[in-house]
Amino acid sequence: MDTAHQNQTEIKPLYDGLLSVVVPCKDEEEMLPIFRDEFFKVVEAMGNPDFEIIFVEDGSKDATRDMLKKMSAEDPRIRYISFSRNFGKEAAMYAGLKAAKGDFITIMDADLQDPPSLLPEMFGAILGEGFDSVAARRKTREGEPPARTFCAKWFYKILNSLSPLKFTEGARDYRLMTREVLNAVLELPEYNRFIKGIYEWVGYKTKWIEYENVERAAGTTKWTFWGLAMYSLDALTSFSTIPLAIAAIIGILFCLLSTIAIVVLSIRQLIFHNSAYGWTSMICVIFFLSGLQLFCLGVLGQYMSKIYLETKHRPHYIIREKSK
Ligand code: UDP
Ligand code: MG
Repeated sequence: MDTAHQNQTEIKPLYDGLLSVVVPCKDEEEMLPIFRDEFFKVVEAMGNPDFEIIFVEDGSKDATRDMLKKMSAEDPRIRYISFSRNFGKEAAMYAGLKAAKGDFITIMDADLQDPPSLLPEMFGAILGEGFDSVAARRKTREGEPPARTFCAKWFYKILNSLSPLKFTEGARDYRLMTREVLNAVLELPEYNRFIKGIYEWVGYKTKWIEYENVERAAGTTKWTFWGLAMYSLDALTSFSTIPLAIAAIIGILFCLLSTIAIVVLSIRQLIFHNSAYGWTSMICVIFFLSGLQLFCLGVLGQYMSKIYLETKHRPHYIIREKSK
């Protein structure tokens, strides 16, 4: 009797309503069945509540699309969107979020580096503690190349000192949010998307959950060093205009310095007639200042390229095929 009662309480769904799970995937044929099985296990442990998985296939070169087609034909709770080419993870997440019908929405990677097993704890924070969203943060980056860890550390340091928003180091794109938060996120239709920044920008009460880094279950990372560097630059310019201010301040400082130099050198020439020496130092100064000018132009160019892309109003992605 006691066990029957226990079983009954165990199978009570953890939440009412629908959970949408957005999974961006590029070349993840190895991971898809592993991900599905792992996710189903977690769903079972949560008392089989309602859910939908939206796989967003982002221009894969392997059999990911065919597998998704098959998986979605087998199970109506599995939906998919397939892009016409690779548009990047940000575009894939955006497409998935727009397609989500759920009352609760989560984004997780297909490689199980965002463990679905954190979901019960995340729901606990939303349903029990009154949070609007729950974000996941890796405590360590073990298993990652040391160079990437080093760059990531510095990226967060620079980003945080330059942006009015606070970015958490080790933060993942993985989070569970309510429909209200998702609607706010979707209010930002910008072309240059950096979802971690968008989450911060929309605000709401967010709880951070820490977990040990999990290595990719199968397949390889889709990031190249160059890709990550460009993404970091995008993130920086998307959520901060301080680099522009720094360029302006450097300009003002050097104007002041050169005014002083003009006065000093003119006086020296007029009184002592000996200002024409120091070719080496002059060349150094010219090189330095030209470099600085190019740097400032580059900063300006970064913002200009953003404006250029935004004003084109191009779609974020092209859908080639989708389920239902
Ligand atoms: N991904 C994507 N489009 C891309 C690159 C990656 O949809 O252009 C997906 C990928 O399939 C995975 C997630 O984004 O589900 C994270 O990618 P990955 O594991 O390669 O990144 P890492 O964990 O190394 O940061
Ligand atoms: Mg990964």
